[in-house]
Amino acid sequence: MKNQVQLITYVDRIGCNTLKELNDLIITQLKGLFGGIHILPFYYPFDGEDAGFDPIDHTKVDERLGKWQDLKAISKEVDIMADLIVNHVSAESSQFQDYLKNGETSEYASLFLSYDSVFPDGASETDLSKIYRPRPNRPFTEFSFKDGRSKLIWTTFTSNQIDIDVESEIGMQYLLGILDTFEKGGVKMIRLDAAGYAIKRPGTSCFMIEETFKFIEILSNEAKARGIEVLVEIHSYYKTQIGIAKRVDFVYDFALPVLVLDTLFNKNSRNLKKWLNMSPRNCITVLDTHDGIGIVDVASENGNLGLIPDDILDRIVKKMHENSNGQSLKATGAAASNLDLYQVNCTYFDALGRNEKAYLMARAIQFFVPGIPQIYYVGLFGGKNDMELLAKTNVGRDINRHYFTKAEIDQELDKPMVKVLGNLMVFRNTHSAFNGHFDLIETSNNRIHIKWTNSNDIAELRINLENSEMIINATEGGELKKLEGLLI
Ligand code: BGC
Repeated sequence: MKNQVQLITYVDRIGCNTLKELNDLIITQLKGLFGGIHILPFYYPFDGEDAGFDPIDHTKVDERLGKWQDLKAISKEVDIMADLIVNHVSAESSQFQDYLKNGETSEYASLFLSYDSVFPDGASETDLSKIYRPRPNRPFTEFSFKDGRSKLIWTTFTSNQIDIDVESEIGMQYLLGILDTFEKGGVKMIRLDAAGYAIKRPGTSCFMIEETFKFIEILSNEAKARGIEVLVEIHSYYKTQIGIAKRVDFVYDFALPVLVLDTLFNKNSRNLKKWLNMSPRNCITVLDTHDGIGIVDVASENGNLGLIPDDILDRIVKKMHENSNGQSLKATGAAASNLDLYQVNCTYFDALGRNEKAYLMARAIQFFVPGIPQIYYVGLFGGKNDMELLAKTNVGRDINRHYFTKAEIDQELDKPMVKVLGNLMVFRNTHSAFNGHFDLIETSNNRIHIKWTNSNDIAELRINLENSEMIINATEGGELKKLEGLLI
């Protein structure tokens, strides 16, 4: 993966209808801004209940968006990352429908996980309560078979997302088939979606257990053999994340979004600095994604301290709700059929109270901390909460999944703040210091000083949190100069 800013976007929410139009956007208006693009699920259908994370056919590009050739064309311009949805498939998939029709005689019978297949001797209350879940209820849905029998099928997420037995031969073949298609389609990197839930064992949390690491390793080797790098998507307690990072190619820095809010809200960089001194270096940094802002990633767990003390964390969450005038509250937790109760749904710009200076400061911090920065399409434009879409769908995450029209994109790209962000991105993409050595210079907690050095090339960020002053210095022709164009 190139050490340059990456875009994460849906095909059809960024002023485009098709992959071809997305390619046009990348090579014209977004030129030079991104080294890679994570295209959110474009498989058939891209607009299911979980916005494409519930594929009926994972190997097929939804015809409404285009063809694999179109994807290949994008891959000639920027590196493409695609989701490998390892844990589940749509209940409407031909495989699951065949299973419902033919029961145990279906050739796909062993592709799916059921309560019985994981707990052949039954499960105790303790077994069930140990299962780590993104939802408060049990991970099973009862399905009726054609012969009149019914069975509890494992559904970690929604009842339309049927968990795959990735340890069965047919399960592995299913995943390898997708990897083969990706390789031909020009995909350079995969994001193992919800990989932590893939392996289940009775009596365990069924989340990121030892066997899950083994599975990720096997799958990663298969991907690498096809020239594809692997990013593992896991929200968890920060120490767990550090452990995971040591064993996989890339992880996300999901702790950063709240740590940056903590720094800016409280004018105190203590918690952020503590994290930067131990955070995984093989990471993709984010402030926003198509999901909510992760809280578990900085919170305490079972009495063990988190990156941010729980009382301060509570106040940060309240402040996000206040800054968004209560909008995020309507989209978060049990309020709006959320898959993940431990995330706050809000655009990052709204979480910062639409403060442009603070927003650019947050992005500058993201670009200077270790890792490869990724920007969500809504964040690229400093987008606002979409209350209309939320009201229409009552899906919490839709608050931050606006459908931009082409005209809106033209307008957004013209905004002074977006132009400054663009300048920062080009700087991050092209200054050689970022390929060198990272130093977090010691300062008092109301300041931040980060420095990158690559032989004679230097780039440094200095922030005074008291008066919200930010300076970026960088070498140009051997001379250290202040970066202009950061004022709006
Ligand atoms: C994705 C979500 C999705 C879930 C189930 C997550 O990791 O980011 O958007 O709902 O997996 O596939």
